[in-house]
Amino acid sequence: MMLTVRTRHGRPKRRRVGALLLLALAARRTAFAPAPVSMEGAEVELEGPADGRELLPGGVEPLRYELELALDPERSSAFTGELWVSLNVTNETFNITFNARSLRFDPQSLAFFGPSAVAPVEVTENVEAERVTLRFEEALPLGHAWLHMTYSGEMGKEDMAGLYTSRYQDREGWKTLALTQFEAVDARRMLPCWDEPSKKAVFALTVVIPAALTAVSNMPAAAEMTFFKTRRWKKRQQFTKITFLDTPRMSSYLLALAVGRFDSIQAQTSNGTLIRILTVPEQAEFGRFALDVAVRALAYYEEYFGVAYPLPKLDMLAAPDFAAGAMENWGLVIYREVDLLCNVSTVGIARKVRIATVVTHELSHMWFGNLVTMEWWEQLWLNEGFANWMQTHAVDVLFPEWHIWEQYVVEEQSRALRLDALRSSHPVEVPISHAKEVDEVFDAISYCKGGSVVRMVNGLLGEDLFRQGLALYMQRFAYTNTGSTDLWACWEQVSGLKLQKMMSTWTRQQGFPVLLVNASDARAGHLSLRQQWFLADGSEQPGDETKLWHVPLLPGPASREASPSILETQEMLWQAPNGAAWVKFNFGQLAPYRVLYDSPRLRTLLAGAVGSGQLSAVDRIGLLLDAMAFAKQGQLPIAELLRLVAAFKGEQSTHAWQALSEVLTTLHRAVAVAQGDFRAVDVAVGNGLLQGALHEVGFRAKDGEEDLVRHKRALVVGLATRYMPTDKELVKEARQRFESWLKDPLQQDALPDDLKTSIFKVVLINAETDAPYRALRRLAKLSDTPQAVRLSIYSALGAARRKDLRRKTLDMALGGRYGVRLQDIMYPVQGVSSADPSGARLAWRWFIQRRGAITARLQGANVRLLGVVIQCAAGALPEKAHANAVQAFFEQHPVPGLERSVAQVVEAIRTEAGI
Ligand SMILES: [Zn+2]
Repeated sequence: MMLTVRTRHGRPKRRRVGALLLLALAARRTAFAPAPVSMEGAEVELEGPADGRELLPGGVEPLRYELELALDPERSSAFTGELWVSLNVTNETFNITFNARSLRFDPQSLAFFGPSAVAPVEVTENVEAERVTLRFEEALPLGHAWLHMTYSGEMGKEDMAGLYTSRYQDREGWKTLALTQFEAVDARRMLPCWDEPSKKAVFALTVVIPAALTAVSNMPAAAEMTFFKTRRWKKRQQFTKITFLDTPRMSSYLLALAVGRFDSIQAQTSNGTLIRILTVPEQAEFGRFALDVAVRALAYYEEYFGVAYPLPKLDMLAAPDFAAGAMENWGLVIYREVDLLCNVSTVGIARKVRIATVVTHELSHMWFGNLVTMEWWEQLWLNEGFANWMQTHAVDVLFPEWHIWEQYVVEEQSRALRLDALRSSHPVEVPISHAKEVDEVFDAISYCKGGSVVRMVNGLLGEDLFRQGLALYMQRFAYTNTGSTDLWACWEQVSGLKLQKMMSTWTRQQGFPVLLVNASDARAGHLSLRQQWFLADGSEQPGDETKLWHVPLLPGPASREASPSILETQEMLWQAPNGAAWVKFNFGQLAPYRVLYDSPRLRTLLAGAVGSGQLSAVDRIGLLLDAMAFAKQGQLPIAELLRLVAAFKGEQSTHAWQALSEVLTTLHRAVAVAQGDFRAVDVAVGNGLLQGALHEVGFRAKDGEEDLVRHKRALVVGLATRYMPTDKELVKEARQRFESWLKDPLQQDALPDDLKTSIFKVVLINAETDAPYRALRRLAKLSDTPQAVRLSIYSALGAARRKDLRRKTLDMALGGRYGVRLQDIMYPVQGVSSADPSGARLAWRWFIQRRGAITARLQGANVRLLGVVIQCAAGALPEKAHANAVQAFFEQHPVPGLERSVAQVVEAIRTEAGI
């Protein structure tokens, strides 16, 4: 899965809704057991393994699901299912327990077919555990059996989880489609199943839908038949029955279905695999770019992993409502529209990179995750950390001109280090006892720290051995489940390096170290190296010093070492190479840790490397981001940080500018809060740097310009919007462009997509009336406004300075006439809270006042979004008193399942307030 938005702190846990309604089996000798936790239920629960995981009891293994589902999403949210499950009874048992949620079973339908017939005597449900247990009158015969049942359920409306409906508007009006999102534990909302990643089985799906609609699933259709059915009022309607080919053996969370009216475009890979883009009507052409990326990426992965893509087709569907960024269902990847579709002639470069990255992320899961799957959610990082690395590797191969690894260090690696520097972080491999807890682990630790750890292994092994190890892993574990040690073992086998112990210090232990580099008093020509747990707030507690990592030193500019130097103890003396003017550790920023040099060494590094251009962009970026973290910690005076920033005058690298933008924005926010304005930073660095860069990139694209130059323009203009939004020249340019764009918003030449948010903000900040605000809000409402433009508007509206307009913007998150789709709920909130300190205060007050309405809107839906909203509303004001207020508020109004995320928000505010 790819996450939605770049939140800084984790993803909240999803809310539980409703109760599972289970009818008593009135037939035969069955009894009704209505208590949510019956004695039988409790006994069953105790059968889980001793390590605390609440797994379904063993003894009955699902082999194959044959499911016939009938639905008509345009008329009704109800659906019905008839399920045959082929089972293997391996241990003597009186019970069969599976997962189900909010499904109503037909009491007459339940039957067990085995070597001898055994009748069920009781059905119990455990609503909290989302389990149903069938108890039989005698022990089930060992061996092969079938279980049969029919049931009905309701598709959620704004749920964005399970089987749910999504609405969109076309020329004729509003239409409804149905689609699925099952990871981690929502397959059980569409069918009773063993909803655990290691319970792999074959899924044979058949759907019955109105003939006017289309259905797609993981596999292509094997047979399609149409027939007439008489509905109410004796109206005849034509239906289609589509039977899909069997899936390979796979985990339940990868099953997928979409039913609606779709347009498509298609292409074939060099190996003949059909890839299609599916969209709501008249949108398919916007999938050209993603289709091209997918065709190339799929072929690349086949070669890279040495294993052919095992399915006959790959569909990529753009959903109007989707909670995550995308989901890697095998053969039917579902994306939110903005992460798949774009207008290639106007798309901003950041959006283009995002689409390419989301596509390569999801397609890497076809192998890593789908073919070889983590055995339990504790190993989620094996899916997501690996995909986080692979998405970048593949984009680097397909689009070398983007220098994507630099962006990786600025965005992904730095998100990992930011979150993992909090005491409230967690290890990459985090014990998960109940599957529902995994929702909080879909965060920067699993994705970005996981990816950074993979990058470290890649750096240590080199490209060839790294790839050989992966190919071995794919071949050895295809169609099965694994843990981290299986992956380490494959890399050890091909490289001879000992990895298990080293890697466990990175994946089983929370946090990462800072490497302290000092001149040695003891021996001339040597450096003293010491490692220490890095904490964002610089705090120290007894016992902290006992944490140790195996830290690869990766000294530069030396070439690759024959065997890597690794600091395993607390400290060591390291001999500097003769004649080296400077040395930088973690060269290439290959590992997720920070380096703090003593002043003389930092100065040599600045003079010898940064100034003279001897250090690559990725290392310059590393130095800068480390320095910002040390300034936050109080280890580095702000004046030193500003000196380092000033050394970037004339910086050419786009991504170094991205890092600068990060540093300046943090400083700006901290200083603006502390001093009431931000002149100090302005005078020191801001305008001088910015004016130069603005002058260099200009406002208008030149013919044949490189993508990265355009990207740099967008970054610099964005920074100018924050730093000097009332600058005369900037305001004049922005107004001109805005006016000409407004005359014909679909004709986008006047205003490229990647400048839109910035230009809108400048216009709104300097507006004398509310006319621009109203115009933008109206445009966001029009159905033919592209989704990317809509998001630019949502993000910009909060910049309008009038309080009443800001309140209106915040209320857009609640729905109503100008309301945003639930999937976009965080954009208006973030727009207001990130505008300035008074916006941040207003957003927090709004959250407290409208908490009831916010949770009511999220109630019917996926609660993972609540944590994002809290992060946006509460996390933007770096003041100690604010941190205390947020903490006190959530102590009084706890959000179950979000405890860790809230703690992370509070700790992050405290850290920022420390500057
Ligand atoms: Zn993923």
